[in-house]
Amino acid sequence: MSTAEMEELREKYEVVIGLEVHAQLKTKSKIFACDSTEFGGEQNTHVSPVTLGMPGVLPVLNKECVNMGILTGLALNCTIPQYCKFDRKQYFYPDLPKGYQISQYDQPICVNGHIDIEGKRIGITRAHLEEDAGKLVHMGASGIAGSSYSLVDLNRAGTPLLEIVSEPDMRSSDEARAYMEELRTTLRYIGVCDGNLEEGSMRCDANISVRPKGQKEFGTRAEIKNVNSFRALQRAIEYEIDRQIDIVEAGEKVIQETRLWDDNQGITKSMRGKEDAHDYRYFPDPDLMPLEISREWVNEIASKMPELPPQRRQRYISYGLTSYDANVLVEQQDIALFYDKIVALGADAKIANNFLMKEIAAYLKEEKVTIEETKLTADSFAELINLITSGSISNNIGKQIVITLLKEGGSAKAIVEKQGLSVISDENSLKEIISKVIEANPSQVQAYRNGKDKLFGFFVGQIMKETKGRANPQLLNKLLKEALEG
Ligand code: ADP
Ligand code: MG
Repeated sequence: MSTAEMEELREKYEVVIGLEVHAQLKTKSKIFACDSTEFGGEQNTHVSPVTLGMPGVLPVLNKECVNMGILTGLALNCTIPQYCKFDRKQYFYPDLPKGYQISQYDQPICVNGHIDIEGKRIGITRAHLEEDAGKLVHMGASGIAGSSYSLVDLNRAGTPLLEIVSEPDMRSSDEARAYMEELRTTLRYIGVCDGNLEEGSMRCDANISVRPKGQKEFGTRAEIKNVNSFRALQRAIEYEIDRQIDIVEAGEKVIQETRLWDDNQGITKSMRGKEDAHDYRYFPDPDLMPLEISREWVNEIASKMPELPPQRRQRYISYGLTSYDANVLVEQQDIALFYDKIVALGADAKIANNFLMKEIAAYLKEEKVTIEETKLTADSFAELINLITSGSISNNIGKQIVITLLKEGGSAKAIVEKQGLSVISDENSLKEIISKVIEANPSQVQAYRNGKDKLFGFFVGQIMKETKGRANPQLLNKLLKEALEG
C-alpha cells in the first residue's frame, strides 16, 4: 500500500493510547528489605532472606518508598487516599522466588491525577508501589547436552517501583511521547527516579487500540512491552496502529495480548495472551498492615515540593526567554540547575541562556560530556557574562573565552587580562587604528564618499579584524563616521 493510501486509511480511525510506566525509586535500600538497590553489583550479592523469598521471613515496608510515592503523587496532581494497602499478585516465574509479587491492587497510594502536555490534559488513573522482580540472563546453547539455559540474578528483586497508569487519553504517538517526556522530567526534578529508559530505571508499557472515528466504544488493545527509548516508543506505536488498522480493515478482530517491540526489525511480535486481573488471584498481603497516611504526613511532604517543570518554564519565560528556549532548558535538568546558579549570581539571564544554547551546547555535543564534566564553574561563567554586560569585553570575545573556560577552567577576568582581550574604549587608540585602515583603502574611501553607504560595514570589519574584535562598537561607529565624513 502506498503512503498516501495508508494515510487516507488512517484518517478513518482514531488511535487510543494509555501508558503504564514503571519508575524505579531512588532509595538506598529495597522496598521490603534492607539490602542495597545499587545497580551492577556482583550477581546475587544484594540478596537478603526476604529478597530470596525464604520461608518464614517477613517484609518490612521502607518508609522512604512511601515518602517518594506521596511526593510523586502530589507532583502529578493526584489525591493521596488516607488508606492504602499491599496485595499479593501471584504468578510463577524463575525471577520471582516467592511465587508472588507484592503490589497494590484496589487501594493504591495515589489516584486521580493528571499531566498537562501542550495544552492537553492527560489523566492519571493511579500510581501504586510494588517490588521489582530479579533478572534472567539467557545463555547461548552450551548447557546440558548443548541446550540453551538461563541464569537468575536476584540483585534487582525487591527494588521499589512506582507504577504510574494513565487514562486512555492519548490520541497519537506524539502525545504519548510528550506525556512520557513530561513525566520523566517531573520525576527527575522531584528526585525520585533518574528516568533512564535505556538502563531500565524507567520502563513503559504502551496500550494501543484503534476504533473507527465516531465509534463510542474503545477497540481491543494490545500492550507493547520492551520499548526502551522515546524513539522506540513512537516507532512501536506507529507500527502497531498500522497493524491494527489492517486487521480491522480485513474484517478480523484484534486480539487482546502482550506484544514485544523488536527494535532491530521495527515490528511488534506476539508474546503472550493478556492475563486478566482475576488470573493473578490478588489478595491482601497478610504480612503487611494496611497503611494509614495522615494528612500531616502528606502536608509535610507537600511543603518540601521542589519547583516543578511547568513553574520552571514560566519562571524562565519571565526572564525573557522564548517558550521554546524555556522548554529546552527545563528538559535538561543538569543545565537548568547550572543556569539557576548563574542567574542567582547576577548574570544576565538572556545572554547566559544564549551561551548555553549555542556555544556550550555545541561543545558538550562535540566532546560528548555533561556540563559537570567540563571545567566551567558557575562562578567563572557568571563572571564572564558580567564582563560582557558591563561592556568590558565583547560578546564575540566572550564566545572564545567560554570555550577556554570549558576546556581549561580558570577565571574569565584573568584570561581577559592575560590575553589582552578587553574592549578598546580609548578614543585615541581607536582613532589611530581607524586612520590606518582608511589610509590602506583609498579606493573604498572614495566610493563611500561618492555615496556607496554599504561600505561602512566593510570598514567596521577591517577594524574589528585589526583589533581582533575588541573595538567598542558604539565608539567605533561614532569615530568611523567622523573620520569618513570629515
Ligand atoms: P491492566 O492492568 O490489565 O494492564 P488496565 O485497565 O489497568 O489494564 O489498563 C492499563 C492501561 O491500558 C491504562 O493505561 C489504560 O489507560 C489503557 N487502556 C485501557 N483500555 C484501553 C484501550 N481500549 N485502548 C488503549 N489503551 C487502553
Ligand atoms: Mg498492565
